[in-house]
Amino acid sequence: VLDASTPQSRAWPRVDIETNPYKAQFPLLAGKPQIAFLDSAATAQRPACVLAAQKEFYETMNANPLRGLYSLSVEATEAIAKVRAQIAGLIGAGDPREVVFTRNTSESLNIVAKAFAPTVLEAGDEVAITVMEHHSNLIPWQQACREAGATLVYLYPTKTGQLTDEEIAAKIGPKTKIVAATQVSNVLGVENPIAKLAQAAHANGAYMVVDGAQSVPHMAVDVAQLGADFFAFSSHKALGPMGVGVLWGKMELLERSRPFLTGGEMIDSVTEQDAVWAPVPEKFEAGTQDAAGIYATGVALDYLVNQVGYEAIQAREAALVHYAMAQMSQLPYVDIIGSIYWDRHHGVISFNVRGIHPHDVASIMDMQGVCIRAGHHCAQPLLTWLGVENLACCRMSLAFYNDKHDVDAFLEALDAVWRTFN
Ligand code: PLP
Repeated sequence: VLDASTPQSRAWPRVDIETNPYKAQFPLLAGKPQIAFLDSAATAQRPACVLAAQKEFYETMNANPLRGLYSLSVEATEAIAKVRAQIAGLIGAGDPREVVFTRNTSESLNIVAKAFAPTVLEAGDEVAITVMEHHSNLIPWQQACREAGATLVYLYPTKTGQLTDEEIAAKIGPKTKIVAATQVSNVLGVENPIAKLAQAAHANGAYMVVDGAQSVPHMAVDVAQLGADFFAFSSHKALGPMGVGVLWGKMELLERSRPFLTGGEMIDSVTEQDAVWAPVPEKFEAGTQDAAGIYATGVALDYLVNQVGYEAIQAREAALVHYAMAQMSQLPYVDIIGSIYWDRHHGVISFNVRGIHPHDVASIMDMQGVCIRAGHHCAQPLLTWLGVENLACCRMSLAFYNDKHDVDAFLEALDAVWRTFN
């Protein structure tokens, strides 16, 4: 647990955090001005255009995609194909067929660990992950290693959350077959050096799996530049609906992978005793997809990237984190967890209030209308390694639709928490 001085890693444009041009576009935020929503790392709020898109799908193009030769069904199929191509363009994938629709990041990562990993992992091999992985990018690798007789190896960051070159060199070697890492930590907020990890992986003939659940909402992603072989993210953290996830993988690796779920839509032909799989991506898309959700995901990503834009998102989030951390660092009873650089938090500030259980902190804040998260944040090995008491901490997470009013409400609630117990 670190103290909270507030140096910055680069110069930032000035942002007016008193006002916010985006908040009014989010019906929940506009309809509930009494709440300060500071849990966007868990799930984002949705702008009106995304909610309208879901309705539009059901009102104007609802039919089961792929299951019909009539024009409505073709329209639904084309709408999904369009979003697939949009996502491929967004993350720098060469071929839209490399974009697989899933339910969420967890399912995407499970596909890699259960359908791809067994094709490369053997007894005595190693899978390298970081200790800051969300359980979604950790449990599947525990399972894959157990089944193959492989060893799960951990990379540990410095206490300020940095993965050093020495640690990368020490943990990724000739035995490594897969390296899996989150691009941005959901607890520390730090961005990991994915390109360096990928380089080390590839130099040893290993594959690079990237968890982009916390990066896509905040930064431009290019899978080629990152050196990723697989990349996963969830729509619901990037302003889209819950229940839609993305897995991108290199075509040859997706082709080599086994199917994950089997059944309708993922086959080419079936006999009584056998089946021929459909080509990628359908091979991984068994059953009816959340077509309306996928359609709305396209609208969400367009809003995020083209209407707001990553530059504005990062500048606003950095300004809000700066304001919050500058205030929090004045409070002797608050311990901030993670980087001392306020602009390396990507909207996430994890902290504890001395002597007060995080669940109590969150409950008292809730009474003041402030929504934060408390607990292990699906990162128990990280909290264990950091030595965080009770294996729990508080996390407030900002998005570009927050403003100074939300942070002030949070700071007032923090003061109320302290006064309640002291
Ligand atoms: N990876 C990271 C870094 C996350 O923060 C989360 C969710 O909090 C996940 C994976 C899992 O995402 P989902 O619940 O959408 O599967």
